[in-house]
Amino acid sequence: MPSVGAESAREDYSPGPAAGQPGSLEGTTVFRWDDPPDPDKYSVCVHCGLCLEACPTYQELGIENQSPRGRVYLIRAASEGRLPLDEALIDPVFRCLDCRACESVCPSGVQVGTLIEQARGQVFAARPARGWQGFVQRLFLQRIFPRPKRLRRLARIGRFYQRSGLARLARSTGVLNLFPSHLREMEAALPQIPATSSRELLPAQVPAQRQRRGRVALVTGCVMDVLFTDTNLATARVLARNGYEVRVPEGQVCCGALQVHAGDRETAKAMARQNIDAFLAEDVDAVIINAAGCGAAMKEYGELLRNDPAYREKAERFSRKVKDVAEFLAEVGFDPPKGRVEMTVTYHDACHLSHAQGVRQQPREILASIPGLRVVEMPDSDRCCGSAGIYNLTHPEIASPLLDRKMADVPEEAEAIVMGNPGCMMQIRAGVQRTGATRKVLHTVDILDAAYQAEEENR
Ligand code: SF4
Ligand code: SF4
Repeated sequence: MPSVGAESAREDYSPGPAAGQPGSLEGTTVFRWDDPPDPDKYSVCVHCGLCLEACPTYQELGIENQSPRGRVYLIRAASEGRLPLDEALIDPVFRCLDCRACESVCPSGVQVGTLIEQARGQVFAARPARGWQGFVQRLFLQRIFPRPKRLRRLARIGRFYQRSGLARLARSTGVLNLFPSHLREMEAALPQIPATSSRELLPAQVPAQRQRRGRVALVTGCVMDVLFTDTNLATARVLARNGYEVRVPEGQVCCGALQVHAGDRETAKAMARQNIDAFLAEDVDAVIINAAGCGAAMKEYGELLRNDPAYREKAERFSRKVKDVAEFLAEVGFDPPKGRVEMTVTYHDACHLSHAQGVRQQPREILASIPGLRVVEMPDSDRCCGSAGIYNLTHPEIASPLLDRKMADVPEEAEAIVMGNPGCMMQIRAGVQRTGATRKVLHTVDILDAAYQAEEENR
């Protein structure tokens, strides 16, 4: 394991001349756009290094600049005008998985993820991607993901590709070999795209079953909506089964997490405002989400819109209502299912559920309540699988070994790997294919719903 100490770290940083010395950039911070990294956040780092061994990029690369402590130091140096906005800063900031594993162990409560996202916002504004790469980036971040109908159209094209024989043709003729191996792997691991999205299938209101306990709103998401339709439907059924009327607000859009991760904070803010308006218009006890990355982003809307006087208070109010579905069910008390699911499973802690939201025990409580289900813990279950939004596409050199480690940790007897995040589900599906295994990849809610369905069938 690499062991680079604080002193060598300082040598690695090359932060430039000290303040007041000739050549110093002091007073000319390179972070000149809205929403720069917050001094209150980076100044609390005490350089203790307790975060180093928790950081997957530090473990892979063994370089201080690719550690949480190194990144916080670089961001501070750039904020204080001691470092220019060049590759020495940009690469560590974008090579971070934003997995928040460092935050789980940091004794000072440094919000490394938020600092990284704020720094990416500065890079996005200062160095917009150009050419083909810039076109694709803007197309997806600003034109497709914020518009649910366009995303559904794209999903239909994907479904046509999968079902028309084009996918088979592309594989058999070797056309796909023109693409890098990690893209081929993801293409093969993509789930069969459903004909209809969950938003098209769900009514505006799903009535509560049995004794009514309250009313919640469901976030249908973007990837969850078009790729994991069944899980969204299962989530609505499970909530209704537990006595909650489920509202599905029409005006909601994708949460904006991908935009925040890419540094496109202005697009993310516009999407956050739209979601806040759509969900606060509903009189609900909670806003329920089943995608960890999106849940974490929505719980941080208050932070994202902290400089927006018109939305700051509303954003904080909205964020307080957001609950991961497992977190909510454990909090309000769910009806233990009586139907059996005979299976041995293991649970993977999605980073944005465990590290970012602190939701670890609740999904395990749900799994433990299911008759017939045997849960075997995997070692380091909260180590990142390498998915991290689109990190597996942009940084395969880190994501691929992380996936190998994750798959090596899966207990032999596990017939399925369970988790609460669509990005992890796609990445781990690719991992299962890579190992040649036949394991299922499931969402926690899929199994709870199956147990409730089995109970109904046995009535
Ligand atoms: S980020 Fe936290 S754990 Fe890491 S060096 Fe700073 S204070 Fe220590
Ligand atoms: S968020 Fe993850 S990858 Fe980034 S510095 Fe923290 S532990 Fe490392």
